Amino acid sequence: MQLIVHGGAWNDHGGSWREVSGESYQEGMRRALDRGIAALERENALEAVIASIEVLEDDPLFNCGSGSSLNLDGKAQMDAAVMTSEGMFGAVAALENVQHPIDVAREVMTRTDHLLLVGEAATRFARSCGFPPYDPTTDSQRSLWREIVGQGQANLLPHLENFRGLQRCSDTVGAVARDRSGRLAVACSTGGLAGKLPGRVGDTPILGAGLFASRWGGAAATGHGEQIMRRLLAFRAVQMMRREPVLKAVATLLPEDPRTFAGGLIGIDWRGQIGYYANTERMPLGIYDRGKILIRSLD
Ligand code: ASP
Repeated sequence: MQLIVHGGAWNDHGGSWREVSGESYQEGMRRALDRGIAALERENALEAVIASIEVLEDDPLFNCGSGSSLNLDGKAQMDAAVMTSEGMFGAVAALENVQHPIDVAREVMTRTDHLLLVGEAATRFARSCGFPPYDPTTDSQRSLWREIVGQGQANLLPHLENFRGLQRCSDTVGAVARDRSGRLAVACSTGGLAGKLPGRVGDTPILGAGLFASRWGGAAATGHGEQIMRRLLAFRAVQMMRREPVLKAVATLLPEDPRTFAGGLIGIDWRGQIGYYANTERMPLGIYDRGKILIRSLD
C-alpha cells in the first residue's frame, strides 16, 4: 500500500515559505498522511485520497477549501476532482461556499453520470447533496487579494504567467494512493491562482491535465494550470508509467527551466513505485510506502 500527498510547488520569491515555517507545511502533510493511511488500511485507495484532501482543505495554510486563493472579485472559486484506476471520475469547478470541494467532486462521480459540474450550478448541486453553505475565505487570502488589486497588479491579467512571480505561493494539494488490491486513486483540490479572472478554471478538475489514473498508474500535477492543460501532463505521465520507471514519468515532462513553466508532479505506478518531481524551489510532500512514513519538502 502506498500514498503520496503534495502541498503545491512554488518558488520562494512569493515570500510564503519565509512567512510560514517549513514545519507548518510538514505538519499539514503529516496530518493528511495520517488520515489517509488510516483510510487506506481500513478501506481503499479512493477513501485514502479523499481523507487526505479533506484534511488539507481544512488547513488554512493550503490553497484549497478554507484558505483558497481569491479571484479578482475577491471570491473563492474552487476546483477539485477525483479519479480511480477503474476510470471513475468526478469534478467541480468554480465552486463557491462549500467546506470540502473534494466531497462534492466525489458526489458528481458517484451520484451522476456526468464528469464535471461548474459554477453556480455546481454549488446548487452541492446543496442538493446536503452540503451546507460555508465561507472558505481567510484573512490572509483577503490581504493578499487587497495587495493584488491595490497595487494595480491586476493589470497583468489575464496573463497569469507573468503574474505568477507575485503569487504568494501555489499550495494547491493532490494525493495518489494504491491499496492492497492494487487499485489506484487520485484526488486534487485548489482555489486556483490568486487574482484569476472570475470563472477561470485551471487544470485541477480537468481529466488528463491535473490528474489521471488507469491500470498503469496515477498522477497529480500542480503549477501553472494553463501550461499543465496544454501539456495534458497527468495523462502523459501515466501513459509513460506503463513502460518507464515512475521517476522518469514524472520528471521528464516538466521543463528544467521553471521560467517556461513552474510546477510539480507526483505519481504511483502499477508496480507500487512512487515518484515525485518539481522544477520549483519548494514542494511539501508526505509519503507512505509499505508501513514507512516520510515527510519532507522537495528543495
Ligand atoms: N494548478 C493550479 C491552477 O492553475 C494551481 C496550482 O497548482 O498551484 O489552478
